[in-house]
Amino acid sequence: MAHDSPAPPTSGCPVTRIGITGLSGAGKSTLITAIINQIENARRGALGDQPGLAAIRHGRWHREIERAFDYDHALTALTSQPPSWPESTRDWSIARMTLDYERRWYSLRPRRRCVELLDYPGEWLLDLSLLDWSFADYSAHWRDWLARPPRSEIAPGLLDELAAIDPAAALDTQQLGALVGQWSIMLADSRLPPHRLSRNLPGRWLMPGRDFDPGARPFLPLPGVLDPQMAGYPKGSWGQDCQQHFEHYRDRIARPFFESHFGRLDAQVILVDLLGALRSGQAALADMRAALESILEPFRYREGHWLANLFGRRIRRVAIVATQIDHLLPADQARLTRLLDSYLFELTQQLAGKDIELRLFAVSAITAAQPREDARGEPMLVGTEKSSQQKIAFTPPAIPERMPHDLNLVIDDLPTLAPPAGLDRARPFPGRRVDALLDFLIGESR
Ligand code: GDP
Repeated sequence: MAHDSPAPPTSGCPVTRIGITGLSGAGKSTLITAIINQIENARRGALGDQPGLAAIRHGRWHREIERAFDYDHALTALTSQPPSWPESTRDWSIARMTLDYERRWYSLRPRRRCVELLDYPGEWLLDLSLLDWSFADYSAHWRDWLARPPRSEIAPGLLDELAAIDPAAALDTQQLGALVGQWSIMLADSRLPPHRLSRNLPGRWLMPGRDFDPGARPFLPLPGVLDPQMAGYPKGSWGQDCQQHFEHYRDRIARPFFESHFGRLDAQVILVDLLGALRSGQAALADMRAALESILEPFRYREGHWLANLFGRRIRRVAIVATQIDHLLPADQARLTRLLDSYLFELTQQLAGKDIELRLFAVSAITAAQPREDARGEPMLVGTEKSSQQKIAFTPPAIPERMPHDLNLVIDDLPTLAPPAGLDRARPFPGRRVDALLDFLIGESR
């Protein structure tokens, strides 16, 4: 497919390709904007604190490539009066940069390197789970998810309606249309507050991108189809229609994206809205962790498995990054990193000893809240509230260091902030730990 062709080659310059993803709202566009800005301002010492980045003298972003990340648009939003956040990622794009390094005359290291950031919706990455599934597997997973809260409460009765369908019966297009409508509402409600669930497959239902139309070949899981060997449903039946459309989605929509991009990636960054999940509590935390586990599963496969061949070959570094930590007091920002460690401990264990390095970070791409003290000397944060554009002062929730084993943890709601005023492309944007993340991804001390 034309839209899945990778960007044109970079002339003679060693390239590091990094995938950046995360579910909608996780902060991809903002982080990529901040990374380009930090690299453009390398000379101003923005990256100098990291020894692995200190030799970068100059960084240039390339506007001229096809499917270029829209840095111009992001800068316009951030530097307007009043400033607004960059537009969210809705499709894939590439941010390409050239980095020039200061070298001693005898250094054999390259004087110029290219970095490409592939920005794409995390919803698409979730589709990785279904690449290896039959239609029966897909139906079985959905039967389990719909049977349990909170989904059983989000869409009461939907499972019963799907389970009542005999896969061998003639397809009723009117009923299919009505159920697909309910299905789409269930997926959207699952994703939104207060639930904030992650595994809303198929991922392109919620985030289609420019070339996918969910209405063109709709399919539903059919709990009645539970025998993976069973094939050959009668022509025009529910089973035949839904299975064919599922397989078309899996093989012609989801898989080509991975095939054209993933074999080329050196590293993958997965942004997670941990603060959002913490506001929703146990079910959101459990679902997000299960989603991360299934995304990273191919790294655990034995060599020879086709998914392992696709991923395990080249990607050597994976960063899981909790975003928007500027919503917390400085001491809690550090605690959030430890909380993330504790939350993903088992996942880190599973990948230890494999050929990839998994690192956890908590960052703020663009810091929008400043620490202050109230009249009694208590710490608080001040910022501008996004919708009212009013200055606000708030006391953020305290963050524990450890995740309870049953994930039973909820924090209070947080305000949505506007970007800080006075941002300028020619100065490094205020952020936290973006340099440490970059050091992990492209640093030279490694
Ligand atoms: P995407 O959908 O993953 O591309 O996410 P965006 O980058 O569009 O971010 C979604 C929203 O999260 C933004 O509109 C902001 O409200 C918020 N956000 C993202 N990054 C930051 C950050 O570093 N600090 C703060 N305070 N908010 C952020």
